Amino acid sequence: MSVLEIRDLHVTVETEQGTKPILNGVDLTIREGEIHAIMGPNGSGKSTLAYTIAGHPKYKVTSGTITLDGEDVLAMTVDARARAGLFLAMQYPVEIPGVTNQNFLRTAKTAIEGEAPAIRGWVKEVRETMTKLRMDTSFAERNVNEGFSGGEKKRNEILQLELLKPKIAVLDETDSGLDVDALKVVSEGVNRAKENTGLGIMLITHYTRILRYIKPDFVHVFVAGRVAEEGGPELADRLEDEGYDRYTETPEPAV
Ligand code: ADP
Ligand code: MG
Ligand code: MG
Repeated sequence: MSVLEIRDLHVTVETEQGTKPILNGVDLTIREGEIHAIMGPNGSGKSTLAYTIAGHPKYKVTSGTITLDGEDVLAMTVDARARAGLFLAMQYPVEIPGVTNQNFLRTAKTAIEGEAPAIRGWVKEVRETMTKLRMDTSFAERNVNEGFSGGEKKRNEILQLELLKPKIAVLDETDSGLDVDALKVVSEGVNRAKENTGLGIMLITHYTRILRYIKPDFVHVFVAGRVAEEGGPELADRLEDEGYDRYTETPEPAV
């Protein structure tokens, strides 16, 4: 039974204006099989939390801990985090010119498992998963995310999720920019991953819309770099009605 524990996490980033604190004491526990929605206004630090878990070098942990099954995640390289069972679907998935999706997936799977998957079964699994995600199989031969539309990139992130079978997945605004049909397809993929592998999910979202398709067990309201309130699914319903105004004293700066 896997558990990701984040304790009193403080994170800064270096800017031209100096050191900027972004996360100010995050506490969060995600167990296998649980879906946690992290909801909050723009600029509250949601993506910073996701990047910090994944090990992005820009984000400096000044205090606090992240552990996966008691192991110190912050001491692990980015690769080691993936091997330990962490997965990040990025808000803005990166393009990897010169690397086909097929090769990328196989390389990632091999790195995570420690041995290459048997070719026949693997090719079949890739093809079947793409079909479930309503991705044309020609996407296997295209370079990772290169020239993909916003929605295609998001499906491709879920393709990776379903094939790499992590223990804990962080999904950063996987819903943003999706039309209703794509949102359903992507949500089905996430739900399948949970059903098939008992995945624990940190579902970062600004909007409640995706929560109609992916039912959270817990909802955390994220404001100014920390969890401001926690509850069950009913908290999302309240946010749908009231927005984030009650948590933010001053109006959000324009971005
Ligand atoms: P969210 O995902 O909730 O919209 P982010 O984590 O993207 O929030 O950003 C939180 C704050 O940190 C914002 O004010 C953003 O401008 C700032 N920030 C994040 N990353 C960087 C960076 N690499 N350099 C400078 N500022 C950053
Ligand atoms: Mg944002
Ligand atoms: Mg973000």
